[in-house]
Amino acid sequence: MSTTLVVAALFQLQQLDLELDRLNAELQSLEAALRGNTRLQRLRSEYGATQQQIQASRQAQHEAEWALADINRRLKAQEQRMYDGIVTNPRELQALQQEVQRLRGQQSRQEQVTQQAHDHAELVQEQSDRQATTVREAEESWEQESAQLVSRRDQTEMRKQGILAQRTQIVDGIDATVLQRYETLRRTKQGRAVSKVEKNSCQWCRVILTASELQRVRTGPQLQTCTNCGRILYYDR
Ligand SMILES: [Zn+2]
Repeated sequence: MSTTLVVAALFQLQQLDLELDRLNAELQSLEAALRGNTRLQRLRSEYGATQQQIQASRQAQHEAEWALADINRRLKAQEQRMYDGIVTNPRELQALQQEVQRLRGQQSRQEQVTQQAHDHAELVQEQSDRQATTVREAEESWEQESAQLVSRRDQTEMRKQGILAQRTQIVDGIDATVLQRYETLRRTKQGRAVSKVEKNSCQWCRVILTASELQRVRTGPQLQTCTNCGRILYYDR
């Protein structure tokens, strides 16, 4: 293979490698996007926390209701005693009336407590219902979004495989030493080992080539590098 053809092949190889770099970066960001939907995770954890609050508030409500039922039961028993007329002793009767008064006060306070517990439990339940809707909507949109991400990832992967196949073909025709030189330059020169010659200058660093340099690039038997940036020069006819 003539030097000109070798450089042309290297330049073509570089185009493929740059495209591969881009595709690999795209694949990485797609994979990262597929791994984590932080909003959905946050919404789910908030919903989970509310479920615990629901349990606690229902428990508090039941306890208040039980306490109220207990007061009601005791009050009813004492009132029954009063109306039955069993207690006739005035002092005992007065004590009984006082006990009924005390229980009525307790009943009224406990009714308030029960109402508050009930209101709070309802509030938490409403919050949970709203959150459930939000989570469901977020899950639905994530399902669509992730399906798109998966399809984009698969397309990108296919393109990558196509480029890799082209790359193998080109690489097969290039001498191992030249290839090694190309790879080393690519690593040290921002992914660009080869620079085109345009308007008699190196496209990468813009240095102007002398007439003899130009001549060597066009027809020389060896690879020519830019005296300024060190990249292999490619003259595209
Ligand atoms: Zn240069």
